[in-house]
Amino acid sequence: MPKYDFDLFTIGAGSGGVRASRFAAGYGARVAVAEERYLGGTCVNVGCIPKKLFSYAAHFHEDFEDAAAYGWQPMQTAFDWEALIAAKDREIQRLNGVYERLLKGSGVELFNARANVVDPHTIEVNGKRVTAGHILVATGGWPVKPDISGADLAFTSNEAFHLAELPRRVAVVGGGYIAVEFASIFNGLGVETTLIYRRKRLLRSFDADLGQFLGEQMAAKGIKIRYECNITAITRKGSLHSALTDGTVIESDGVMLATGRAPNIAGLGLEGAGVELGANGAVIVNEHYQTSVPSIYAIGDVTDRLLLTPVALAEGMVVADRLFNKGRRRMSYENVATAIFSHPNVGTVGLSEEEARAKGLDIVIYRSNFTPLKHTLTGRPEKSLMKLVVDRKSDRVLGVHMVGPEAGEVMQGFAVALNCGATKSQLDATIGIHPTLAEEFVTMREPVAG
Ligand code: FAD
Ligand code: NDP
Repeated sequence: MPKYDFDLFTIGAGSGGVRASRFAAGYGARVAVAEERYLGGTCVNVGCIPKKLFSYAAHFHEDFEDAAAYGWQPMQTAFDWEALIAAKDREIQRLNGVYERLLKGSGVELFNARANVVDPHTIEVNGKRVTAGHILVATGGWPVKPDISGADLAFTSNEAFHLAELPRRVAVVGGGYIAVEFASIFNGLGVETTLIYRRKRLLRSFDADLGQFLGEQMAAKGIKIRYECNITAITRKGSLHSALTDGTVIESDGVMLATGRAPNIAGLGLEGAGVELGANGAVIVNEHYQTSVPSIYAIGDVTDRLLLTPVALAEGMVVADRLFNKGRRRMSYENVATAIFSHPNVGTVGLSEEEARAKGLDIVIYRSNFTPLKHTLTGRPEKSLMKLVVDRKSDRVLGVHMVGPEAGEVMQGFAVALNCGATKSQLDATIGIHPTLAEEFVTMREPVAG
């Protein structure tokens, strides 16, 4: 008779939890997972997937306009928000079903319920107590709103996917991933969009050229960007009035707060079980994702490190492999590529120029800024930026950065190259694919800074 009801009990069926549970079951473990809201978690329901679908929707606006420059007769177009929401919801429902089948098909027992930790081996779910040899906390994160009066009048990314109506005018607060992606989505869908950011350049944690250049491109597409000011209060006076720190007021029909996310640990019982938490509620884990309680593990956004789906997936596989397959693999957090699906996209991998300089590295910078071929006919004032950060001594490429169409697609291959230790000479020796944007990365010869 086994000592525990399950070998592994996973709380949260998001990106990390589903992956860890399926792999653990595949290694022969008896696994259960509890999900209180939606199978597939943030990414599938209110994150990556619906966001990218919205991003595609928003791009058609420019595509229709650009078509005329290529000989297409102007056509009548009209956008139907409800039709987009319905199509998106159908796809997400399909994905929820796929996740359910994946879990059940791999023999994982699924509780469609909230779960919380009672002690190092006990979980409460559906009013019952069950025991497990290991507990995996994979509860993700939740949007954080700043503490301002009228914050309840604003929506976050969670609600943005279900707005009953598309606002005519919107104010988006923040300068990170979600703010620039949603400002681009709203603007592309024809909403009069203002972006309010407290610093002087978007995307603080990325190479400064990316934030600077993206801001210019977004402004050229018609987004009003209010730098170096913040929202202080929102009041409803018919429309919504957002008071800003510079004394001005922005009137809009919707306000989106894209001001970060925090680990989802409320009421989870972690502190009671003795799990150590960081200042912002992040579950603290060691290199094997083990918390201060040896039988309790945590992965993904709840650990508040790199908040990206592929990272949560990789962490889930490492945990399952270690616990149930005698695996000793570790995950590398170096050269994790990421894309921001703003318009235009941003793609990046490796060190920013600022990070490399802060490490005291002797670097050479290559940068190119040009009009994509497509816009030679459209006349659209959109430009692309490519940048390489190279270590002078070893010639190793330390960072690859881009603003431009499909930057995420371009960056995936460069992530492989960086992980293989690519040097600038190897990029130079690589024959480009013509005519593409990406060929610029293998043809930049003149450094712009040392
Ligand atoms: P989640 O996917 O958040 O899953 C956690 C699950 O736990 C949820 O389903 C939740 O309901 C459940 N849960 C919580 N508490 C309990 C409980 N007590 N009992 C039972 N269930 C519980 N990443 C990318 O890589 N690319 C992108 O393009 C991208 N776009 C994004 C866009 C937006 C708007 C947002 C918000 C995020 C985006 N991300 C993107 C980030 C990505 O969604 C997350 O990094 C990823 O989902 C984290 O996975 P996770 O398993 O840690 O948590
Ligand atoms: P980010 O950390 O990217 O951005 C949060 C933004 O909010 C920052 O610009 C921050 O400013 C600002 N901010 C924070 N607090 C306040 C405040 N009190 N008042 C005004 N502004 C404030 O978080 P997001 O919410 O955009 O996204 C969360 C995470 O989800 C991302 O870090 C990313 O990992 C993931 N994600 C990934 C995507 C992708 O892969 N494409 C897409 C969307 C999300 P400051 O810069 O000054 O700190």
